[in-house]
Amino acid sequence: MLKDSSQRKPVVKQRKRCQSCMQNIKIESTQCPYCRATVISPTEAKLASAISGVMPTQYPATKILLGTIIIWYVMVAFVTFQNASGGFTALQQVAIAPDFETLHLWGAQLRGHSELWPLVTANFMHIGLLHIFFNAYALWLIGPWVEKLFGVSIAFASFILLGTLAMLGSNQLGGTGIVAGASGSLMAMIGMVIAGAHRLKTVEGFKLRNQMLTWAGFVVVVGVVLTYANAMNVDNTGHIAGLVAGLIAGWFAPLLGLKGMKTPWPHRIAFVTAVASIGIAIAAVAMMLLHAQGTLPCDICFMMSIK
Ligand SMILES: [Zn+2]
Repeated sequence: MLKDSSQRKPVVKQRKRCQSCMQNIKIESTQCPYCRATVISPTEAKLASAISGVMPTQYPATKILLGTIIIWYVMVAFVTFQNASGGFTALQQVAIAPDFETLHLWGAQLRGHSELWPLVTANFMHIGLLHIFFNAYALWLIGPWVEKLFGVSIAFASFILLGTLAMLGSNQLGGTGIVAGASGSLMAMIGMVIAGAHRLKTVEGFKLRNQMLTWAGFVVVVGVVLTYANAMNVDNTGHIAGLVAGLIAGWFAPLLGLKGMKTPWPHRIAFVTAVASIGIAIAAVAMMLLHAQGTLPCDICFMMSIK
């Protein structure tokens, strides 16, 4: 009997994607046979496939960032329960808002205060169930667009770096108060999609741009109304700073599949930026943990004790 050929595993030759025309090409190629663009080296292609091998297959940046903010929420809930030794108060704090000290020690930033790590960590922290629900849902909707338009590296880098810029804007220009939440990052990602979709110059691109513009406008207007009606304290400065940072970044960041991009350098720079931004996030978490254990000089603790 003949051996069923479908039983044998086909030998899949390693391929890579041309960053300019998105065609699958041979891993050894240094130039794309379809569009003549210079492409990444075989070593870089192998590194890229090794990295993607340990990440979720579809929209890895969105899923990893989403996982991180959820784990962060659980971590803060755990600390809140420990501090309040459980009970209804702790449950209430977890659902609505933990106490001021827990918020600051576990990631929130205090406006006007000069510590740097909270500008990074505050993007991952949420205050209450509604807050994390809305931001997680928004990330679930916007993240994939950033990954589709700009790639995984830029999605990671934009959440972390542009979110940090938004927090800096909120820190310097937003008045007083304690701030946490991913919405500065999310507004930056909306800004990136607006600019990126516009640059595609296609009917679908313009449609996506208009949807995102409507969304951004809605967030800004609702935020301002809620704040001035004293219904909720929304970080409008952070929202607007994030949106502006995202619009600018999205205008200049390399788009995937943009015809005419004949060199892999923009993608190499994006990769290095992503690695650096993840490094910055890890360093910020390390600083936060040191601070939470009281091994760093902590003038903020003094400020809180007199409040
Ligand atoms: Zn090509």
